Amino acid sequence: MDYIKEKTPPVREDRLKACNSFGGCCSKLLDKSKKGCLNNTKRTFYQTQGCQLNLSLAILSTIRDTVIIVHSPIGCGGGNNSVAGVTTGFQKLRDKNAKGLIWINTNLDEADVITGGEKKLKEAVLYAEKEFRPETIVVVNSCVPALIGDDIDGILEEVQKQVAAKIVPVHCEGFKTKIMASAYDSVYHGILRNLVYKKEKIEKIVEDDLEEIKEKYKISRTVNLLNVSSMSKIDEHELVRLLENLGLKVRILPCYAHPEDFQDMLDAALNIGICATHDDYFVEHIKAKYDIPFILKTIPIGIRNTNKWIRDIAEFFGLEKEAESLIEVENRALKEALEPFKKNLSGKTALLTGGEIRVLATAELLEYLGVSVIGMRGYHYDHFADELIESLPSDKDKTIFNAATGQPFEQSNLIERLKPDVYIGHTGGNVWAAKHGVPVLPIFGPSYNYMGYSGSFEIARRLNRLLKNTIFNKNIAKNLKLPYFEEWYKQDPFLYIDNSESEALEKELAT
Ligand code: SF4
Repeated sequence: MDYIKEKTPPVREDRLKACNSFGGCCSKLLDKSKKGCLNNTKRTFYQTQGCQLNLSLAILSTIRDTVIIVHSPIGCGGGNNSVAGVTTGFQKLRDKNAKGLIWINTNLDEADVITGGEKKLKEAVLYAEKEFRPETIVVVNSCVPALIGDDIDGILEEVQKQVAAKIVPVHCEGFKTKIMASAYDSVYHGILRNLVYKKEKIEKIVEDDLEEIKEKYKISRTVNLLNVSSMSKIDEHELVRLLENLGLKVRILPCYAHPEDFQDMLDAALNIGICATHDDYFVEHIKAKYDIPFILKTIPIGIRNTNKWIRDIAEFFGLEKEAESLIEVENRALKEALEPFKKNLSGKTALLTGGEIRVLATAELLEYLGVSVIGMRGYHYDHFADELIESLPSDKDKTIFNAATGQPFEQSNLIERLKPDVYIGHTGGNVWAAKHGVPVLPIFGPSYNYMGYSGSFEIARRLNRLLKNTIFNKNIAKNLKLPYFEEWYKQDPFLYIDNSESEALEKELAT
């Protein structure tokens, strides 16, 4: 993989042939994915979908000693207001002197659409430099400057000569992609092109051989653990605990990192992703350019996937024996602790929504707890999830999978049809499930533990508590009117998904 010479990264529809319009059973999805026929599905009606600029900001706004310039009309990036407190607080947990989230909007208006927004962008960069003296200025590009043809890179190249801060352009215009996860590539692209480089080598003065050996040993055991904002602070603690148990030294980035960390990261022995949807673009480029290997096979959610994650990492360092002892102790304690919850949760049903890798790993844990996963909604689908679907214990011919970013009308129909005992999903979709009277467990929260062994315990504990008394959501449903006609619930939830192109391709491949 080598896209770094390009100013902008490809979108996921092109690079991974990813799909965000599918409805059917898991076995059909897997079959289509393996044949390469998912990429051509679409909807004839779209209700809402995510914007990659907002997901990009969720990652970029955490980077310390940085000013974010959102080059857009005032509305884009407004979501920053809701994360400012958390971002600032969590930055300070890494460094008590961190300044927290600082962001500027270029406030493009109707006149700028005619005359161009380049002047405002230049002014914003100079203002950021003069006012805040940051290490880095990240410029996030939105739909409007892309449509009116602002020469973002040209302007920034020019203004870079006048400022000390390193300028990082990130091209993440929302209209370019229907796969929100393209944001991960846009962010990593900006970081790879501007922040990751080998520092000038400073020869270390080594007192004696022993010191040199110690230094080499430390480097050979250092790993970069990649967190693109889907790992909470407590998840970080749990994963660091497990890796340190193997004797590894852990550095976490890109979230809450300092810009200099991206140069320091090149001394690591291994890059560890927690999810291919997040990190494949970054680790593949680092491997190609700096020859640092990576682990990316699974996400450490649930017992089986956390075990696998640890085994893959341990195998790289030849620490298989240590890993097996760790897994044995942790699994024994966890399984014992989960027993009382299993009795209460057994026989319940769940509908899950979120990133497809997270959803599938959660499904595996729920099945272990005795909860039957009757439906899953992934924001999109690509080949990275095939292995997880294959290993799902549930009946793949019966379990529904809906590839959809947003599209709450499909979700509402599915909830009415499947009538799950619990809905597990992200903010946004959760509110609609709650309005249907279904209890909701968030699939992520900046202060929830979801990953590792302690995360599995927390999921079970919270689920158990939630399902003890479900009257709150039932009362919400009784007192609310949903926006859909009754007729919609009688329709096929996937009525507006158009498979014709994909089916034609499938037929062509079969002949
Ligand atoms: S889709 Fe475009 S206009 Fe809308 S928030 Fe995203 S970048 Fe801004």
